[in-house]
Amino acid sequence: ENQRVKNKVAVITGAGSGIGRAAAMKLAEHGAKIVLVDLLDERSEKTRQAIRDAGGEAIFADTDVSDPARVEQAMQEAAKQFGGIDILFANAGVNGTLAPIQHLEPEDWDRTLGVNLKGTFLSVKYALPHMTARGGSIVITSSINGNRKFTGFGMSAYSASKAGQVAFAKMAALELAHHRIRVNAICPGAIETNIGQNTHPTPEVNDIKIPVIYPEGNQPLERRAGHPNQVADLVLFLASDESSHITGTTVYIDGAESLL
Ligand code: NAD
Repeated sequence: ENQRVKNKVAVITGAGSGIGRAAAMKLAEHGAKIVLVDLLDERSEKTRQAIRDAGGEAIFADTDVSDPARVEQAMQEAAKQFGGIDILFANAGVNGTLAPIQHLEPEDWDRTLGVNLKGTFLSVKYALPHMTARGGSIVITSSINGNRKFTGFGMSAYSASKAGQVAFAKMAALELAHHRIRVNAICPGAIETNIGQNTHPTPEVNDIKIPVIYPEGNQPLERRAGHPNQVADLVLFLASDESSHITGTTVYIDGAESLL
């Protein structure tokens, strides 16, 4: 048996679907005890059941990651159940409302930034009291969008949130180094998930004028979108001791999409 995060406690946000779900399954397979954090939704319950069916341990803490009181509670539940937190995968995110800047409402901005960026801050902030005594690893899901590549119209709020996550990860890596907590950001390209369900284009998006040529098969490596399992392999590496000297960095996982 080659379990790479055996007996570690891993909190995963956005764990009910897509990248978070794949990471939860993968870390559980490698011996971690999993705390699934997501909105109240049957998908999270299904993920929990799938982990248990495979012989793993998992609990679900229904949480809106933009709600400070609830995030604090979820981290307390995690620590109460499993004794502390070793791994935090801050991954919950939405594309949110897509609109040209002059049509993007302040509430749309707040919602997108609230889940993606503030949600990341809150998850780290409230996990820390349960991590500092043990050391550990924090992985933050950013995106090629906002950091290296234009990926869609009307995504100024999303892009700002994703760039903000990378800056936050670097500062957190510095601040937390003396606790032996590593912090890294990952930047996926297009991945086949359910994020379309949290994508709300406005009609005005069509008014945006940016000359864009979309190359055919826009991921050179495999000529298709990535699979959540491929991202989960990276998360496992960054969460495990195999990456013990890696902190404050950003890893792109996009089949070279962002180089086009
Ligand atoms: P997904 O929609 O399949 O999964 C995201 C999960 O986050 C869902 O289960 C959703 O319920 C949860 N979530 C949304 N808002 C929440 C909130 N307020 N509180 C708690 N949970 C919440 O999408 P995904 O593609 O797996 O997204 C995961 C991360 O990957 C996001 O941060 C996203 O920005 C990032 N990402 C995705 C892609 C892609 O192409 N799919 C590319 C780059 C980055």
